[in-house]
Amino acid sequence: MPDNHKLYRRCLLCPRACGIDRSRGRTGFCRGGTEARAAVACLHRGEEPPISGERGSGTVFFSSCTLGCAACQNYSISSGGRGAEISDEVLASVFLALQERGAHTINLVTASHYAPSVIAALEAARAGGLILPVVWNSSGYESAATLDLIDPFVDVYLPDLKTLDEDAAHALFGRRDYPAAAREALSAMTAAKPLRWDGESLAQGVIVRHLVLPGRVGDSFACLRWFRERLAGRALLSLMFQYLPLECGSPTGGPRVSRREYDEVMEEAERLGLEDGFIQDLEEADDWLPDFGKPNPFPEGFAEPVWHADFGFFNANPGQRGGTAESRSDTAQRTQ
Ligand code: SF4
Repeated sequence: MPDNHKLYRRCLLCPRACGIDRSRGRTGFCRGGTEARAAVACLHRGEEPPISGERGSGTVFFSSCTLGCAACQNYSISSGGRGAEISDEVLASVFLALQERGAHTINLVTASHYAPSVIAALEAARAGGLILPVVWNSSGYESAATLDLIDPFVDVYLPDLKTLDEDAAHALFGRRDYPAAAREALSAMTAAKPLRWDGESLAQGVIVRHLVLPGRVGDSFACLRWFRERLAGRALLSLMFQYLPLECGSPTGGPRVSRREYDEVMEEAERLGLEDGFIQDLEEADDWLPDFGKPNPFPEGFAEPVWHADFGFFNANPGQRGGTAESRSDTAQRTQ
């Protein structure tokens, strides 16, 4: 077993700190074992422009999660269990296949509970020629020790700042400790990765995502103010409005973010002088959900599949290369 894999024997990889021995078949909230599980790897064009670039971000969607939001747009993989175990060697091959297909970055979506496996795979891929920047795409619910572990392998952090209200965190995903954990994690990420650009690409840094929720504009104001006080000028802000009313992955017909709420959040961001970052347009936050049972879970032109847990590796389709669809990475639906 590679050295870091011993961390699975008393798992403290996320703030839940279950302390269980995953190598003996015990599972905590995330249900993770001693090998990573993943559902899909693809070139994804919906991320922020420095992450997606022209060709798309080499995005790997890992299975399960340490938070478990009921309204997760990736519910079938984050909580529904879709995906398959993937060895460190195959995961390294996935990273290299994404690079081969022209990915702009390697984008690891919700991988904290598999950090030892991901590190082993990145080490093997680097030895095999991987040179792309690595993006740690996270809920923001991270432990300091896991961040220390993965930091040497990460170039860009892409964390959520979901809420800073303990009652809201309890209502949304049952974790009152989320605000404190996220504050600490985002501060540590920003200290570790000062912004550094390489032309249009973000060579190193932090992009903090905040998803505005209907009826919770006050939460958004609190997040914007905290960002302004603690991170502005040292990290970028990505404001997202793509919320769909879901319960366990199914549409509920509940409220969406209104134009008035959008305007209020935008006015507050402007008042605070938060100009460095990305804004998802309200109308163009697409009204669809990925279907991770399909070879390509996303609409045609939005993503290009490279590996799928049910179908294995896909060969490049020369007809798709170069991108037949308009790049919509400034407005399109993002990975979380
Ligand atoms: S990563 Fe999973 S097993 Fe480990 S502490 Fe977090 S929820 Fe528990």
